Amino acid sequence: MVNIDWNNLGFSYIKTPYRYLAHWKNGEWTKGEMTEDNTLHISEGSTALHYGQQCFEGLKAYRCADNSINLFRVSENARRFQDSATRLMMPVVPEEMFIEAVTKVVQYNADYVPPYGSGATLYIRPLLIGVGDAIGVNPAPEYIFTVFCMPVGAYFKGGLKPTNFIISDYDRAAPVGTGAVKVGGNYAASLLPGKEAKERQFSDCIYLDPATHTKIEEVGAANFFGITKDNKFITPISPSILPSITKYSLLYLAKERLGMEAIEGDVYLTELDQFSEAGACGTAAVISPIGGIQLKNDFHVFYSETEVGPVTKRLYDELTGIQFGDVTAPDGWITKVSSLTE
Ligand SMILES: *Cc1c(COP(=O)(O)O)cnc(C)c1O
Repeated sequence: MVNIDWNNLGFSYIKTPYRYLAHWKNGEWTKGEMTEDNTLHISEGSTALHYGQQCFEGLKAYRCADNSINLFRVSENARRFQDSATRLMMPVVPEEMFIEAVTKVVQYNADYVPPYGSGATLYIRPLLIGVGDAIGVNPAPEYIFTVFCMPVGAYFKGGLKPTNFIISDYDRAAPVGTGAVKVGGNYAASLLPGKEAKERQFSDCIYLDPATHTKIEEVGAANFFGITKDNKFITPISPSILPSITKYSLLYLAKERLGMEAIEGDVYLTELDQFSEAGACGTAAVISPIGGIQLKNDFHVFYSETEVGPVTKRLYDELTGIQFGDVTAPDGWITKVSSLTE
């Protein structure tokens, strides 16, 4: 077994032994290979470097009580990766190739999937970048698809703790821009707003709809949801929100497992009083309860600044129970990763 303190992992780069690497050249993908080299040697003209022609994904592998390994809704990541690639005029990675790459990376690095009960997981990062000799603003002549992974810690150590957020004056995406795809440019645009929020002791900032600045869209790099006082699950709907797989999973679980009405709709800043609880959701954040939101000079508290609300807690238990194999999953949500020797 590898020598890692599983209970004290954060979210930072750790070099695991193996990664998957494939090239797109002359109109087709080369056969992907596993490699131990964690560096990429690319042309200085690569469009990924100059014009942000790149997209990525983020998903996790979960160690179960019986020591088997789960992937959660990996086909959804494969499809979103294709949507992102298409928006930026990059070749799509076929779904089977994406799943094979992710599976191999987990199998080869299986010793780095944290033990059940630690709350830690193996974070998997698929990446597609435009490379090759180029300088004009055009799609790249070649592409690299790589998948690497590293163990990351439980987002919450010692229970779900609410944190506070501040409404940003900046936009992370344009109304009909690239907000709905997982591309690096959106993240570059969010670094400064995020830094300014953290300097003021907030966890991150909340972005409003870029067209009217009246509705909540995203919570940092996570989606927003609220629980209304009459027990509805509401999450914003907008063409500039990144369609979070966690969010769609919660919409389903709220309805099918908790018997709630679950809807995508507008979340106006003027109507925050309708919510008894609120949270942020995503693969990295899982479910993070929102304590309060700073809006100009007003501070709006949802359930509590110190305690997680009961519905948020139930959703968290249901979701993470499914991911770690303790709760029966809806059909197709879990893919078991076999070990290399099987
Ligand atoms: C990846 C991402 C999310 C979360 O999506 P999941 O599929 O739930 O991991 C939310 N917002 C942004 C901006 C993202 O990039």
